[in-house]
Order: sequence, then structure tokens, then C-alpha cells
Amino acid sequence: MVQAFCVKCRTKREMKNPKQVVLKNNRPAVKGTCSVCESTVYRMGRYSKKKKTLKGKLGSLKLFF
Ligand SMILES: [Zn+2]
Repeated sequence: MVQAFCVKCRTKREMKNPKQVVLKNNRPAVKGTCSVCESTVYRMGRYSKKKKTLKGKLGSLKLFF
């Protein structure tokens, strides 16, 4: 489940059909559709960034102990 800030709803909404895209300034972003008002929403960063950082933290914890 990907959440992004919807400009129309002015709150965070669940993103439908999230797709990894690259913006004009070469920054990765996730583009999708607001599940409520169907307008296009963007979220900066990569699709599964959170999971990767969590795994990285767990890996370093294992090394630490
Ligand atoms: Zn919306």
C-alpha cells in the first residue's frame, strides 16, 4: 500500500496503480491515482524505499550483535 499527499483532498490518500517514474530533475518518484478523487498524485522517492531501509537496519543490527 502506497500513500501520497493528494492536492485536491488536501490530505494523504491511498495511491491506486502506483508506478515508479523519474522526474525531469532525475529524481525518482512514484506516480499514481488518488483512491478518492481520481486525480494524479506524486510521491517523492522510490517505491519500496521504506522496506529497504528496514532491511538495512535489521542487517546492521545482526552485525552489531
Ligand atoms: Zn484526492
